[in-house]
Amino acid sequence: MDPVLAVAIFVLGLAFGSFLNVCIYRLPRDLSVVRPRSACPGCEQPIRSYDNIPVLGWLILRGRCRNCKIPISPRYLFVEILTGAIFLACYVHFGATLATLKYCVFGFLLLGLIFTDAETQLLPDKMTLPGLALGLGFSLLVPVNDLASLLLPGVVSLPVSSEVSWHLLSLADAGLGAVVGASFIYGAGAIYLRARGVEGMGFGDVKLMAMVGAFLGTKLTIFTLFTASVAGSIFGVSTVLAIWIKRTRRRVARNHEPVSLARRRAWESAAIALRSHQMPFGVFLGSMAMVAFFYGNSFLHWYWGLL
Ligand SMILES: [Zn+2]
Repeated sequence: MDPVLAVAIFVLGLAFGSFLNVCIYRLPRDLSVVRPRSACPGCEQPIRSYDNIPVLGWLILRGRCRNCKIPISPRYLFVEILTGAIFLACYVHFGATLATLKYCVFGFLLLGLIFTDAETQLLPDKMTLPGLALGLGFSLLVPVNDLASLLLPGVVSLPVSSEVSWHLLSLADAGLGAVVGASFIYGAGAIYLRARGVEGMGFGDVKLMAMVGAFLGTKLTIFTLFTASVAGSIFGVSTVLAIWIKRTRRRVARNHEPVSLARRRAWESAAIALRSHQMPFGVFLGSMAMVAFFYGNSFLHWYWGLL
């Protein structure tokens, strides 16, 4: 690993993170990410270029607008540092290869989608659809490592040269990953709608998983779907339990209800809270896709070793 290159990649990540903050704010509002220049949402003063320096700008101003002093969300700082960290992690993990470029692009898109979903519960087409195209395109440069590696060593001999078949199999796997990811979410959303009568997952999640599938291929897409469902369920159950315990305590303390009655009533209200609350599932899908491209393969090797 070249330390100078590592620092350069981290700083490049900070700059991309700064642009990503603009995307997270503007894309769900249907605004252009190019024009006009960034302005304070409070006083609409354009932000000076020296205040716009990633991380330092926010720290020097201590998270407030220079002009009107309204607070600027620490999200700006987090996204910049996280993008830098992901770029650096890609370089450390994959070295100076095309895979690093591919996963920097993928990590950039995922981070933008995770934060946009968390803030607005939207997953803009302007990120997911170009992401799907980029994922398919990258499969021709960096082999999507499962179907291709399984089928290539003599198991199936295609009537084309191995150079061509490598690219075709990789593209096929990326395409299959996109179809598997999108149809799973579409199916799960349809079942959820039938069972609960409310929309649990939107088309944004379907397109997000099509993009993830194109970048990761079939095997890691299934890994992402599975781990995101587990993480989402754990989060959902622990949220309901936390609400239940808190409301039971409050009922006993304030209304002096008997504990059994307080427990039952608190449970009813916690269940209502769960039903009315929209869980940003894209946050879990995006985070687990990120885990998948760093650790998915080692996890699956370990898991298959146990069987
Ligand atoms: Zn201001």
